[in-house]
Amino acid sequence: MDNCLFCKIIAGEIPSAKVYEDDKLLAFKDINPQAPVHILIIPKEHFDSVNALDETSAPIVGDIMLLAKRLADEFHLEAGYRLITNIGENGGQTVKHLHFHLIGGVKLAEKMC
Ligand code: 5GP
Ligand code: ZN
Repeated sequence: MDNCLFCKIIAGEIPSAKVYEDDKLLAFKDINPQAPVHILIIPKEHFDSVNALDETSAPIVGDIMLLAKRLADEFHLEAGYRLITNIGENGGQTVKHLHFHLIGGVKLAEKMC
């Protein structure tokens, strides 16, 4: 999609520190990490957010969950981690391309908001 930052990262027009890529998914390090491990997992297909998903997109969400688990293992997050997706203005979403934050490597705050 035009003018989408993450679509530009997928297209290679903007550089990123990739940690995983296949034909459907990309994972790369967040430019402003909130913890020692902060990875963004995105589908290559553009969805604005969870709100743009429907029954036909359920498989890609499952693929994202399984990749999160694999990356958590690869980045030694055995002690735990957090998987977050922000939705809309009140949810704090700043990039309007569905993404999941995989955050860990430290004891995270108990308070979530
Ligand atoms: P949101 O606030 O939409 O849930 O998360 C967007 C995330 O994208 C933020 O954590 C922000 O640091 C990250 N981000 C914004 N621009 C870039 C970029 O150009 N490269 C990378 N790697 N991350 C970015
Ligand atoms: Zn996009």
